[in-house]
Amino acid sequence: MTKGPRPLPETLHPRTRAVHGGTRRSQYGEVSEAIYLTQGFVYDSAEAAEARFIESGPDEFIYARYGNPTVRMFEDRMAQLEGTEDAFATASGMAAVNGALTAMLRAGDHVVSAKALFGSCLYILEEILTRFGVEVTFVDGTDLDQWRKAIRPETRAVFFESLSNPTLEVIDIRGVSDLAHAVGAFVVVDNVFATPVLQRSADLGADVVVYSATKHIDGQGRCLGGVICASRDFIRKVAEPYLKHTGGSLSPFNAWVMLKSLETMDLRVRAQAETAQKVAEAMQGAAGLARVIYPGLADHPQHDLNAAQMQGGGTMMALELDGGKEAAFRFLNALRIVLISNNLGDAKSIITHPATTTHQRLSEDQRKVLGITPGLLRLSIGLEDAGDIVADLKGALAAV
Ligand SMILES: *Cc1c(COP(=O)(O)O)cnc(C)c1O
Repeated sequence: MTKGPRPLPETLHPRTRAVHGGTRRSQYGEVSEAIYLTQGFVYDSAEAAEARFIESGPDEFIYARYGNPTVRMFEDRMAQLEGTEDAFATASGMAAVNGALTAMLRAGDHVVSAKALFGSCLYILEEILTRFGVEVTFVDGTDLDQWRKAIRPETRAVFFESLSNPTLEVIDIRGVSDLAHAVGAFVVVDNVFATPVLQRSADLGADVVVYSATKHIDGQGRCLGGVICASRDFIRKVAEPYLKHTGGSLSPFNAWVMLKSLETMDLRVRAQAETAQKVAEAMQGAAGLARVIYPGLADHPQHDLNAAQMQGGGTMMALELDGGKEAAFRFLNALRIVLISNNLGDAKSIITHPATTTHQRLSEDQRKVLGITPGLLRLSIGLEDAGDIVADLKGALAAV
């Protein structure tokens, strides 16, 4: 195998990088990326083994928990897409969120986080970090004043999702980053809802961008995976030592699935977002619907901010039904195409009732603060025909 990827021109569009970025070819010159389904690597001599444990080069591997050629291709491709120097792939999105935060934090540190978060992210910030002496302050992520008041000299990191799960709040990435950087804090953004196609958070000030690759990156609901994108220093000196010793590494097979998916991610996500815009417009004002929350609609509270930092409204929306949980359940049970499940970013449109599933763990008060009402449904738009999705949603509304 030739060492390292084939050099690419500097100026390539992300779409081209998503097809060619990071590819390594063996002595056989295969077109499609090889799966190196091996946990270990053989050394030419005892001296070579010793030398590699002292310092391994960028394309020298020791053990798949530390790194693997197929995983390395995925990491390299993701770093190129995100515009960061490096990346580390993880077994799931939560391994990426936990890895990025736990690797850098220690007792006595302070973290400021938006409160509108995916349930498991909230668990890490509320339950795990605090158990180890990290103080966490939660703010309304859409209110820059609250960030300004909460960030203080010992703040080591800020964390948020933009867009947020499931209520699609938009956070001013540049504004929060400027406040955090003024005290030397790291900006960690969970960019899952926005996708690497539609929003480059690192360009807007984020130092560390984390993904659940399970969502739009795979995009076809097959594999769990995650990735942390950041500077080479952060990845190699902070994230890698933590992750390689604690066991959250991505499997080579899953990395290969993700590599194949990245080739079509741009096409998929743009098509899904275009359909989402049509569906949101078609559902606005429908009888029985209190609200359609979609950043691409002019009535979204942060519509203008979203237009400035993201291309379009994305692939996710929330529908709030009149009539609470009972109406929401009747609506779900009447759907014939859209699936009741809790993945997102899939080729198949998927709908979730957050109050009884992903955010069930929260108290009713917490849910109210986050806008997760009994009538709220989170809808992930897939690759089906827009007219068929609208007909399915309207048919279910009629059944309510
Ligand atoms: C799904 C999700 C995660 C967790 O990803 P897994 O791959 O399921 O571990 C983290 N953040 C957000 C915003 C998500 O939607």
